[in-house]
Amino acid sequence: MANPLYDRLFGRHAGRDTPFLHRPGGTTLTHDAFVRMAARYAHALTAAGLEPGDRLAVQIAKSPENLAVYAACAQAGVIFLPLNTAYPPAEVDYFVGNSGAKLLLCDPADAAALAPVAAGHGARLMTLAADGTGSFPAAAEGQPESFDTVDRAADDLAAFLYTSGTTGRSKGAMLTQDNLLSNAETLVETWRFTADDVLLHALPIFHTHGLFVATNITLLAGGSMIFLPKFDTDAVIEALPRATTMMGVPTFYTRLLDDPRFTGALVRHFRLFVSGSAPLLADTHQQFEAVTGHRILERYGMTETNMNTSNPYDGERRAGTVGFPLPGVELKVTNPETGEDLPRGETGMIEVRGPNVFQGYWQMPEKTKEELRADGFFITGDLGLIDADGYVQIVGRGKDLIISGGFNVYPKEVELVLDAQPGVKESAVIGAPHPDFGEGVVAVLAAEPGARPDTEAIAAALGGSLARFKQPKHYAVVDDLPRNTMGKVQKAALRADFADVFR
Ligand code: ATP
Ligand code: MG
Repeated sequence: MANPLYDRLFGRHAGRDTPFLHRPGGTTLTHDAFVRMAARYAHALTAAGLEPGDRLAVQIAKSPENLAVYAACAQAGVIFLPLNTAYPPAEVDYFVGNSGAKLLLCDPADAAALAPVAAGHGARLMTLAADGTGSFPAAAEGQPESFDTVDRAADDLAAFLYTSGTTGRSKGAMLTQDNLLSNAETLVETWRFTADDVLLHALPIFHTHGLFVATNITLLAGGSMIFLPKFDTDAVIEALPRATTMMGVPTFYTRLLDDPRFTGALVRHFRLFVSGSAPLLADTHQQFEAVTGHRILERYGMTETNMNTSNPYDGERRAGTVGFPLPGVELKVTNPETGEDLPRGETGMIEVRGPNVFQGYWQMPEKTKEELRADGFFITGDLGLIDADGYVQIVGRGKDLIISGGFNVYPKEVELVLDAQPGVKESAVIGAPHPDFGEGVVAVLAAEPGARPDTEAIAAALGGSLARFKQPKHYAVVDDLPRNTMGKVQKAALRADFADVFR
C-alpha cells in the first residue's frame, strides 16, 4: 500500500543530506532532518489520540516546525487544517467547531485565550511556538525518528483549507491528496522547478499560495527554500542574492520597487518571479521589467482549486492577464444567469474543471451545490474573459459587480481608467446603495506619495473615456487601500465605509 502525498513530497527525501530550509539565522535544515522531525511529530499526533481522517487545526507562527506538522499529518493520515494567525479566538471558535477538529495547536502565548475554545468543542489543546518549543514538540521529544506511514489513497482528504473570507464567511475547502499532488506536478513542469532552485519564501503558510504552491512544488522538485517568517523588505533584499526564484503577492513587488536598494544587479541571476492571490497591476509588471529585466509570471488560483491558469514560462507573459489554463485544467466563461458557454472575448463567469478541483465545502452542502456543478465544473465567482489569443483576463469578482440604473459596471474597467490619472497610485471602485439608481459608483483613490489627486479634474477627464453610468458619482482619497495579508483589497470593508454616501 502507499500514501501518494507523503511518499512523493516527503518520504522520498529520507536519508538525503541536501538542504531543505534555510532559516533566518543562517542555519539549514536538511531534507533528512526534516523527515525525521515529521516522523516524531506523527508519533506525537498518534499519542494525542488522532486517527486517520481526524482533523488537526493549527494556528501557529510560520516555522520549519509548522511545516513538519503538515508532513506529520500526511504521514499519519490526519487532515491538516491551517488557520490564519490573525484570527482572534472568536473566529478560531468557528473553525474548530465547523471542522470538528480533535486537536488545536496554538502558540503558547494564545493558550490561555484558546483553552475555552478548544474545551467548548471537546478538542485537545497543545502548543508550538515560532522557536520550535511548546507542549507538542515536548511530546514528540524522544519519539522514534521513523513512523509507519498510514496507507492513503489518492482520493483521501489531505487538508481542509479555509478560504480567505474576502466575500463572506470563510468556507472549508476539502482537498484530496491528488488535488494537491496533481497541481504540484503540473506546476513543477510548467515553471521548470528543479533541485537546484532556491525559493525565497516570505508568504504565510496558512494559505494555499505559501503552503501548497510554494512548498509542495519545492518538495516535489527537491530544491530548498529561504524560509522567512514574513515579508520584511530588509530581510528580503538581504536574501535575494542567494535565491533563484520567488513567489509573491503583488504587494511584495510594489514594496520592492519602492525601495531604492532594490536594483537589477540584485536579481540579475534570478530564474523566475511569480505573482498571484490578487491582481498585479500592469504598471507594476512594466516597472519591474524596467528595473530588473525580468517579466513577472502571473498566475491565477484559489483555495478551492489550487492553480488554474498561468502565463507561459517561454512565450509572452502578458501584463494584466493570468495566462492560459494549466495542462489538465479546463476553463470556460459562462453566462452567470444561464450557465451557457459564452464566445471568446465576452465577459462572464469563470468556471474550471480538473484534478485540482476540490471535493466541496465541509458541512456546507447547500453552498457546495451552488458552486460545484454535477459535471465537475466549479463556478469560481470570478468574472473574466478569454481574449483572442487565449489569455485569460480576470475582470473582478461577481460579488463586486455594480448594477447602477440597471446597467452592469465592471469595477476593473473603471479602475484601469482611474489608475492612469495624475496623482493616483491605485484605486478601488465599489457600489453604494443609491435611492435612484439602486447602486451608485464610488471611486476610492489611493494617492501617490506626496500627491493630492484633483478629483474634480479626474471626474471631468473620465467623461471622455467612460459611459455616463460607469462614471463615479462619489470620490474619496485615501493614503492606502485596505488589504489583508494576502494583498487582497477588502472591498466589503470599503462598501461598509461608504454605505451612506448617497443616502
Ligand atoms: P472567499 O472565497 O472566502 O471570499 P477569497 O476568494 O479571497 O475569499 P482565496 O481562495 O484566498 O479566497 O482567493 C482566491 C481568489 O483570489 C480568486 O477567486 C480571485 O478572485 C483572486 N485571485 C487569485 N489570483 C489572482 C490573480 N492573479 N488576479 C486576480 N485575482 C486573483
Ligand atoms: Mg473565493
